[in-house]
Amino acid sequence: MSHEYEFLAEGNVVEYLKSREDTRDRIDTERISEIREIGDGNLNLVFHVVDEDGRGIILKQALPYVRMVGAGWPMTPERARREAESLGVHHGLAPELVVETIAYDPARFILVLEDLSDHSVWRDALNRSETHHDVARRLGEYVASVAVGTSVLGLHRSEVSRRISQTQNPELCVITEDLVFTEPVFDIGRNSVLPENEQDARDLAEDPVFAAAMGEAKWRFMTHAEALIHGDLHTGSVMVRGASGQAADSVKVFDSEFAFYGPIAFDLGALFANYTFAAARANALGEAERASWAMGLVAETWEAFAAEFSRAAEDWRETSLFDRSFAERRLERMRREALLFAAAKLARRIVGAAKVRDIETLEPALRAPAARGVLLAARALAAGWERSESISEFAELVAPHVLVGR
Ligand code: ADP
Ligand code: MG
Repeated sequence: MSHEYEFLAEGNVVEYLKSREDTRDRIDTERISEIREIGDGNLNLVFHVVDEDGRGIILKQALPYVRMVGAGWPMTPERARREAESLGVHHGLAPELVVETIAYDPARFILVLEDLSDHSVWRDALNRSETHHDVARRLGEYVASVAVGTSVLGLHRSEVSRRISQTQNPELCVITEDLVFTEPVFDIGRNSVLPENEQDARDLAEDPVFAAAMGEAKWRFMTHAEALIHGDLHTGSVMVRGASGQAADSVKVFDSEFAFYGPIAFDLGALFANYTFAAARANALGEAERASWAMGLVAETWEAFAAEFSRAAEDWRETSLFDRSFAERRLERMRREALLFAAAKLARRIVGAAKVRDIETLEPALRAPAARGVLLAARALAAGWERSESISEFAELVAPHVLVGR
């Protein structure tokens, strides 16, 4: 398929909005006061448009390549459709917790989204040393709603078959398979670390237990079509609103272009790894109390996920073979797999191509030991995930490397 379509620019956004019936009641295109490109992600264009009454709208357009790299890394813009569809499904299951998709334009690969500019990206808030409470709990509920609502636990199997065939996302899955699972062990030239961390990266790549775990993780990611997972559920894919130190008054998940039918624990592991980055950053900055708060988010998300999953098990589609003890066994398995996937996510963000600002924006004297701690934590999880007996073991495996005195 050839991909020739007009890219959004500040000069053509208003004209574009005027051409769309379905955005008329959301913004006054005759009285636009501000248009700004606000994309900070690796992949797409994002425009924020505001009218004179202060009403805003977001336009997100997929380019036929990876924005971070440019035309040299082509990437299907069909990912925008996958994002629109998965956001729509997830919003239907957890309306309060997922950004609203107002419209989707398949000709120009544009999503029209609810304006969340009164929120902060959670990663940014965490990096400002803010502590929004209750976010981790609500994210556990979100993952559980999706786990049940898009799988055979909540849908007729023929519907699940139909959806699995319609939500294939091979190009984006390959990015995860390469960057998250393979390349931390087998560098193809995209990895980089500080000179002080070169030995740490070598130790990781040469750790046979870590490599074996990454094989297990990749296999599960590629074959376990359990539910329509988000696929990229890090703290930069969540917005929060409200004052630091209090419960967030709004939590919104967004940016689900990596969505596909995959293992539920992958989304949990992504969250756990990102809580660990927040903890490692707080620890590096000498904020011990906030570091242990961040570490505690792992159990908060897990407990909320498990409670909601168990509650749903009371009356999901089949309760004969898929009975209460089945639900308990699944939870046990997902809990372990979440540790496995977290190990992968931790390592790739330190040694791989796409890094995290939590660690990257630390000054080098703090960054090198923090990065080393995260890599050691990844190896500890890779060694311990299969035998772990409770969620507290995540912190027990990780804390000795991440919550350390300087
Ligand atoms: P990418 O897929 O390129 O990572 P994102 O969906 O993460 O793009 O969007 C990039 C940035 O644009 C976000 O980090 C956020 O700052 C901003 N953004 C995205 N969606 C919205 C929205 N609905 N409301 C306000 N800001 C948004
Ligand atoms: Mg993003």
